[in-house]
Amino acid sequence: MILIVDDNQNNIYSLKKLLESKDFLVDTASSGEEALAKALKNDYSLIILDVQMPDMDGFEVAENFAGYSKTKEIPIIFLSAVNTEKKFITQGYASGGIDYVTKPIDPEILLLKVKAYYHLQEQNLAIKKTKQNLEQEVKGRREAHVSMRSEIDHFHLMLEALPQIAFTLDENGEVSFVNVKWYQYSNSEKVFPETHPDDVDVKKEFEKCRKKGKNLELEIRIKNIVTGDYRYHLLRMLPVYSGTIIKNWVGTFTDIDDQKRIEKEKDEFLSIASHELKTPLTSIKAYMQLLERKLKISENQDVSYVSKSLVQVEKLNSLITDLLDVSKIENGKLKINKKPNDLTAVVDNAIETIMQTHDHKLKIERHGLKEPLFLPFDAIRIEQVLVNFLTNAIKYSPENNQVIVTMFEDEEAVKVSVTDFGIGILEYKQESVFHKFYRVEESSLKFQGMGIGLYICSEIIKQHEGTIGVSSKINEGSTFYFTLPLN
Ligand code: ADP
Repeated sequence: MILIVDDNQNNIYSLKKLLESKDFLVDTASSGEEALAKALKNDYSLIILDVQMPDMDGFEVAENFAGYSKTKEIPIIFLSAVNTEKKFITQGYASGGIDYVTKPIDPEILLLKVKAYYHLQEQNLAIKKTKQNLEQEVKGRREAHVSMRSEIDHFHLMLEALPQIAFTLDENGEVSFVNVKWYQYSNSEKVFPETHPDDVDVKKEFEKCRKKGKNLELEIRIKNIVTGDYRYHLLRMLPVYSGTIIKNWVGTFTDIDDQKRIEKEKDEFLSIASHELKTPLTSIKAYMQLLERKLKISENQDVSYVSKSLVQVEKLNSLITDLLDVSKIENGKLKINKKPNDLTAVVDNAIETIMQTHDHKLKIERHGLKEPLFLPFDAIRIEQVLVNFLTNAIKYSPENNQVIVTMFEDEEAVKVSVTDFGIGILEYKQESVFHKFYRVEESSLKFQGMGIGLYICSEIIKQHEGTIGVSSKINEGSTFYFTLPLN
């Protein structure tokens, strides 16, 4: 908008008409005071200022405009009838004008000047606005950077406070921060702690996880640079996502060496104890069987005591055998002897064995495939899995005597499942039942056991490259299954 300042209404009128005819927006003021008040309130791109005005002349008005930041940049064209002398023109420029036009006005020339100055000012304003926006953005970015920096500092402080070795990696997998504990295992921030030559290659494992964007969790030994000892650590590395992109990684090494040592000692004790118990027990069993036979021949009434003791000896024997199996698994010595066998016969045999040792109320139904099915597997070990499933199905169904065994074959595998209608297992505990020594807490006091049967089963099935699992509903029952690959 253009502001015309003149005390003469006729001049204002004709000038206003002239400018409006060229589509300029025009505002007017009839004195210096009014002009200043308006200019402080509104935004003008150009002021056309009459020099001869009664109270405050045009030069004074211009000097006033120069005193306010809002108005000092507005270009001013002076209009004057009398002051054509050089000194007045000079004063006009000195007081902030950009041009000096004398009356009578040549409308065409004035219009050309107005257009030029008006557009120049518009461009100036646009540049100023862009500059302001840029400054705002730079300020915003600087503030964001400062707040991000302080967040990172806070995060690093937290990592320093951890009892573990903690570090971060950038998106390319390069170490970007380490806490002070790192230096017990490495001399430099850039050098990853030295791992034991027999352990897995951390770099390779990390690359696999990096490609998939997944967590890494490994038990590895790293070398303490002061003592030179390798200590077991649990290494965890987690990706930090920003939207769908990995921004960086956070890692920790937790020292688990003491736990590992205790676990090893416990395994060694179990292995020695079960071996040492097995030999005398085998002798006791053999002598008792002899005694049982003798008493039967002589029709001695006391034979029932010996028979009952033999049942208990058999139980003890199977507990010790399970413990021996656990130590074999720990030492990688649980051997599987795969030969072509009829799985149907093995399933039926396991059911038969269970039926013989339980009372007549027990009902085991056979569903699905009943024809012979030959495939390579270790018959003794698979029967052990089935006997374990069946024993558990009966043990954990005190109110029910029904068990269903189903065999089902598809193109790739054969699946055998054992369903009971017993106490069931809470969903979040179902995966854990295959872990070593795990027993569901709620039922552990009511039912006897050591929590190793299913662990051994899962190892046996793993070695057959099959799968093992459970689906269960609390108070409704469970289905334990395993699959064996057909090829
Ligand atoms: P154990 O029976 O000697 O405790 P297992 O390894 O065979 O050990 O089973 C582990 C745990 O899984 C059991 O303690 C029990 O809590 C749960 N479990 C196993 N089978 C069943 C089942 N059929 N129904 C309910 N819970 C079961």
